[in-house]
Amino acid sequence: MAGLMEAITSLAKRRGIAFQSSEIYGGLRSSWDYGPLGVELKRNVKDAWWRSMVQLRDDVVGLDAAIIMSPRVWEASGHLEVFTDPLVECLNCHQRFRADHLPGVHAPQSGHEEDETTVDMHERPTCPNCGHHDFTDPRNFNLMFKTHMGPVVDEANAVYLRPETAQGMFVDFVTIQSVSRKKVPFGIAQIGKSFRNEITPGNFIFRMREFEQMEMEFFVEPGTDEQWHDYWIEQRRRWYLDLGLREENVRLREHDADELSHYSKRTVDIEYRFPFTDWGELEGIANRTDFDLKQHEKFSGQDMTYFDQDRDERYHPYVIEPAAGVDRALLAFLIDAYREEEAPTAKGGTEKRAYLALSRELAPVKVAVLPLSRNERLTPEARAVFDLVKAEWMCDYDDAGSIGRRYRRQDEVGTPYCVTVDFDTLEDRAVTVRERDSMAQERLPVANLVTYLAERL
Ligand code: ATP
Repeated sequence: MAGLMEAITSLAKRRGIAFQSSEIYGGLRSSWDYGPLGVELKRNVKDAWWRSMVQLRDDVVGLDAAIIMSPRVWEASGHLEVFTDPLVECLNCHQRFRADHLPGVHAPQSGHEEDETTVDMHERPTCPNCGHHDFTDPRNFNLMFKTHMGPVVDEANAVYLRPETAQGMFVDFVTIQSVSRKKVPFGIAQIGKSFRNEITPGNFIFRMREFEQMEMEFFVEPGTDEQWHDYWIEQRRRWYLDLGLREENVRLREHDADELSHYSKRTVDIEYRFPFTDWGELEGIANRTDFDLKQHEKFSGQDMTYFDQDRDERYHPYVIEPAAGVDRALLAFLIDAYREEEAPTAKGGTEKRAYLALSRELAPVKVAVLPLSRNERLTPEARAVFDLVKAEWMCDYDDAGSIGRRYRRQDEVGTPYCVTVDFDTLEDRAVTVRERDSMAQERLPVANLVTYLAERL
């Protein structure tokens, strides 16, 4: 669909799903705010992940670790040394770019892990801004945001905003294992903000400098890691499909050897067919081996092994990590759900109807209560219906404008059910329920409304 991204970003702004941060100051390029509907949608994405990864399992537990960790963590993890992107500057217009993202440069598709020598700048890269071909040599640029802890600004007080949530699970591994009394194989899951000083943020909420991740570290016995890796790849792929992404828009991509992160034995990305990149990463599922636990043991001097009672021995578990982005998943769900069609109007003609065919689980608002008109007899009746449903689901009450227009507004943000209260309701104690995708309407007693909706939501 031509202009799909424009349709999504304009819908997101117009309806307050997501928009530029600090807009009154001209906006901050890589920061975005989620408005009333966006915050619901985002929470639903995170809840769906938590439900599938933690609640429905007995082998994964949760964690909420600090964003600012000991700076030693990033020495041990390797991020201080190798979490870099190759930065170049155009010699003509002086704009800066990620060398491996320039048109005309052949480099591994993604990742921050390749060093400057793998970026071949001799293939006539082109400046996306001015079209010239001359650049500075690539230099490695560390993506971590640095700040200072406490009142004194000096190197001794330097700390970093975490660039991934994963290290929380590694440094807390021994504590969590003992308090949860879980046996390997088991996992630790976390949802939270991460920060990367990306050279070229963009494509709406696809690449930001402040974003949210949903990561799980699954600790397994060495030797069983490859099987568990395959298991998690399939689990995670299914999660996206079950929440509504169309199968033809989702694919798996194996990382090439020269693209693998410094800690990874094998990584498979789940990719989505984003309109702006063709295929773009939604989630990476890596076999991180025992790299992180061993590094933290080396740097902290603490024993990071697990005691396997059945085998009566200690070992460093291997780790399988499904690492997803909340914002990217949300963007993919929005894009995939966007539909435009010609719909019949009340007057017998047709008009364009745009709607979000979001899954029931993800829809920001589940039910809208719409009195036919703003009227002193209808309002209390409609309010009473609203009170019934709002106790169960996130609901909206709207009595402004024509009923047709109000349906369109709900369709556009993916509300699965609209409940209309009209003058007949005062007599027959029944309401009309309209379903979003089919626009089919059904009349039922108010007394049955909650049960009817509960069966469908
Ligand atoms: P990319 O190659 O796109 O930079 P990555 O391979 O560095 O991503 P990971 O380190 O595997 O990403 O992070 C796991 C997930 O976190 C990604 O799949 C993505 O969904 C999300 N993510 C990473 N960086 C960003 C970002 N700058 N903005 C939004 N989401 C991000």
